[in-house]
This record gives sequence, C-alpha cells and structure tokens, in this order.
Amino acid sequence: MAERIYFDHAATTPLDPRVREAMLPYLDESFGNPSSLHWAGREAHAAVDGARAEVADLIGARPSEIVFTGSGTEADNLALRGILEREGGHVIVSAFEHPAVIETCKYLATRGVQVTQLPIGSDGIVQPDSLVKALRPDTRLVSVMTANNVVGTIQPVTELARITKEHGALFHTDAVQAAGKLRLDVSHMNADLLSLSAHKFHGPKGLGALYVRAGVELTPIVFGGGQERGLRSATENVAGIAGFGRAASIAREEMSDETVRLVALRDRIVASVTETIPNAYFIGHPYLRLPGHLCLGFAGQEGEAVRLLLELDERGFAVSSGSACSSSHVGEPSYVLTSMGLDQIRARGSLRITLGRFTTANEVDEFLNVLPDAVGSLRTIASHAGFAVRA
Ligand code: PLP
Repeated sequence: MAERIYFDHAATTPLDPRVREAMLPYLDESFGNPSSLHWAGREAHAAVDGARAEVADLIGARPSEIVFTGSGTEADNLALRGILEREGGHVIVSAFEHPAVIETCKYLATRGVQVTQLPIGSDGIVQPDSLVKALRPDTRLVSVMTANNVVGTIQPVTELARITKEHGALFHTDAVQAAGKLRLDVSHMNADLLSLSAHKFHGPKGLGALYVRAGVELTPIVFGGGQERGLRSATENVAGIAGFGRAASIAREEMSDETVRLVALRDRIVASVTETIPNAYFIGHPYLRLPGHLCLGFAGQEGEAVRLLLELDERGFAVSSGSACSSSHVGEPSYVLTSMGLDQIRARGSLRITLGRFTTANEVDEFLNVLPDAVGSLRTIASHAGFAVRA
C-alpha cells in the first residue's frame, strides 16, 4: 500500500498531540475520582471544571449548562428522551438526522410520542416553511442538526429555533459535525439543547456533551451516583474530559485560520474534479457547507461507490461512501440522499471526502492525481446491472 492519507474526518479525527498532552496527567499521577473529598479527588475535580469552562466557551454557554456524556449519541438520546419520555407529545425532526436522533425517535414512538419528519430540499437544506406547517399545539421539541454528517450542508438553525420558540416549544440541535468547525453561539442560535462530540474535532473518542439551557428540565436516562447535576450518573472520564476541554480551546483559537485553509483545499478538489472527471456531480449546497466537506457522485457508476472506496483504500486513501455509522448497510440507498430527492440509483453511491486540521495541499494533490484513474476503472451501471444510465 502507498502512503496512508486520511480524508474521512467526518467519521472521526486524529487526536491532536496537544490534546494528548493535556490528557496524560489524568491517565497517570492525577488519577483521582472527582467526587472524592481528598487531594486526589480535588485535582480531578479541578480538571473537569476547567474543561467544562472550555467546552462552554466553544459555544457561548455557561459552564453550569454543560453536561458531559459518553458520546454524541448519548447527548442526542438525553436531549430527546430527557424531554419526551416522561410526558409524551409531539416531536419534529429533519428527515436526514443522524441515527442517534432517528432511532431515538423510533423508540419514542413505541412509547406514544408522535414524530413528524421535515422534508429536505434537493440542496440538502431544511426549509423553515416546512417547520411552520409541521408545528402542532402539542409539539414539545424540534430537533434539527446544525450540519449534516453525510452531505455536510449547514442548516438554518437560528431561523428554525426562532420559529420553534415563538410557538412555545423547545429547540435541540445536533451540532456534532459543526462544533469546532463553525462558530456557534447558543444565545444567538436560540438553542435550548445542543449536542457535541469530542472526537469530531481532534479530541478523544467516547466523550460527548449536552448543552442544557438554564431552566430547561430534563429527565436523566442514566441513574446512579448523581454526577453531572444528576443528569448523567457515572464516575467521570477525567482524562477524556480534560482532552475534550483542550480540543475545544484549540478549535476556538484556530477555527478562523483553519476554515480559510480547508475551504481553499475543498475548492481545489471541486475545480480539479470538474475539469478531469466529466461524469462527476456534487451533492448538496455548493457553499452552505462545512469547510472541509465534499460529497460527490459519479453518474452511471453509483452502484460502484463501495468498489471505488476500496480501490482508493488500496492506493492508501481513506474516504467514505456516505457515513461510517451506516457501514452495515453498504450498497443500500442512503436515507440521507433519498430524503434530498435523489433517485434510488443516485442514492446508492456517493463519495464523502472530509478534510481536517492536518490535511496538507500535497495530500490533496496526490488524491487528485489518483481519483480520475480510480473512477475510470469502474464499470458503468449500464454494463454491470442493466440499469439505464442517468446523467
Ligand atoms: N450526530 C452526528 C451528526 C454525527 O455525525 C455523529 C457521529 O458520526 C453522532 C451524532 C454520534 O456521535 P458519537 O460518535 O460521539 O456517538
């Protein structure tokens, strides 16, 4: 295999060495339990407090509004189940939410909660008008992600939250893909609940957080010793939390420069692919998207997306055919793409290229040297499965 080049940062990101550095003391000499009253406990407690302030700063929240969880998935579960499980009612979500939201809604539906899904435009963006139509007197919660994990499009969450709040319901946004990449401010966004995950911005895996606006009442989903204000019992993952805090502070400081750099690299890919691969098309809004995120299709070769991924893998490039979370459904039409109105053929194949902090221009150039040839080596749908080719 050639050099290893990683273009799958929407799935996960490498740990920033500065984050690793911040975690090490808590895997070693500062091993205390933050609930203990002695020196070891106090040291760990201080680390958790410091990280809470840094994570809060990343989204313009108060430290007391941050609840650490075991993942972004758990933060989404806590937001939805915490509001709806006890009292039921109606929830509105977008049709292309991450499974952490979609599957939680399926579970809630078995408990009597009514669920409405908002349609997605062909540009990968939810239209605020559709929310106005979907709201009902018993709507308790609206949940729309800040940016989509497959196509990378940014949603009009500030507008959606305004409509929701005027109606008297609560607004949750899954900001797992957006945090650390877009400047987020919960007051400006008018969000009541917001989910984060550390491993999407060069922090450790298995660490999430839920922002809970002061005054919003939630029922816990994990019961026990009462940590995290009783909202998430469990001895804290102190090293992970310290890393989360450091990842948040680095992202906040470096976001502007990183955005400029990643957008330039993304544009370089768009320009080159447009020129060298005539059957390529881009999926989702051209610029209302995350800085380093592209989703591509190849007309007539959609059924070959997984083969393309493996071909690129063979040459050392890690990309995705959609979402890592759906690897068990490889080759099936993606619900994210069908929700955007792509037909069954187009929805079967896309190539997700997501760049990150350590991606270099050289790596992008190497990729662009290889991609046309890799695409050229694929069979067309027409020759391989008898489908009509639709450009
Ligand atoms: N929400 C979105 C939009 C995601 O992209 C992901 C992960 O891919 C999650 C939630 C789940 O986060 P975690 O991997 O921390 O459980």
